[in-house]
Amino acid sequence: MKDLLEEKVTCVHHWNDRLFSFRTTRSPALRFRNGEFIMIGLEVDGKPLMRAYSVASANYEDELEFFSIKVPDGPLTSRLQHLKKGDTVLMKNKATGTLVLDRLLPGKRLYLISTGTGMAPFLSIIKDPETYEAYDKVILTHGVRNISDLTYENLILNTLPNHEYLEEMVRDQLIYYPTVTREPYHTQGRLNRLIESGKLFSDLGFPDPTPEEDRFMICGSIPLNRDMTEILTARGFTESKRGERAHFVIERAFVEK
Ligand SMILES: Cc1cc2nc3c(=O)[nH]c(=O)nc-3n(C[C@H](O)[C@H](O)[C@H](O)COP(=O)(O)OP(=O)(O)OC[C@H]3O[C@@H](n4cnc5c(N)ncnc54)[C@H](O)[C@@H]3O)c2cc1C
Repeated sequence: MKDLLEEKVTCVHHWNDRLFSFRTTRSPALRFRNGEFIMIGLEVDGKPLMRAYSVASANYEDELEFFSIKVPDGPLTSRLQHLKKGDTVLMKNKATGTLVLDRLLPGKRLYLISTGTGMAPFLSIIKDPETYEAYDKVILTHGVRNISDLTYENLILNTLPNHEYLEEMVRDQLIYYPTVTREPYHTQGRLNRLIESGKLFSDLGFPDPTPEEDRFMICGSIPLNRDMTEILTARGFTESKRGERAHFVIERAFVEK
């Protein structure tokens, strides 16, 4: 396809009937900053069918990883969920996005607030050594409906703390805070409520966040993004606009149609 890269699927993992991940080859021409998204897709009826996807792998990895929803009647994901090793995925050779470290002012703690597949960009951010150089503590939150949606726990709790280069930083600085809304779990409730009430911070033993010390990256549904913007701006935080550094950045995890 004209102007599109053709990458080969190298592995596929189904987490449950709603979520899956896959890895592909990576053309050396495809460069990105951790936290960015690219347009990927499939050829359908001779034409490219493309959607925005956050890159879940880090920019120093040889392969690309994507973490995807399966929308039963979704034009792309109803097809994409049947990917097999060796299949071709189309990609635009241009990455973009706001969830990048250099959009934030320096600070003490970095909160990564995600729901569902909104965790994808943060998987690349928690693999970036620069994240740990910039912040004392990195708090990865993941709000989901069911326990089986708590994907990537093994990467976060076992693989990264034993990673050849990141091991020490991850053990000392990364904190994982999953929360479930529709099943009993040790942390329950919606992230916006846990943040507004201060429970998230007291659970972690951190003070209530201030614009002087804390930074936020947010990637979730439209209601989560809207609520987080309201909560943070009411507390004096400013959102990064037009590439300027500020206290928080937001990206939609998907578009409501
Ligand atoms: C900046 C950006 C980054 C994105 N990154 C990812 C990603 O890393 N992984 C991913 O799975 N999707 C991601 N998306 C959404 C993605 O672009 C597609 O919408 C998704 O793959 C579904 O495509 P579709 O053609 O099957 O259905 P669409 O017609 O695109 O969507 C149908 C409906 O499904 C719902 N929906 C779509 N995507 C999601 C989702 N991820 N979670 C919950 N509900 C959803 C929405 O209500 C939407 O109206 C991203 C979107 C944006 C804007």
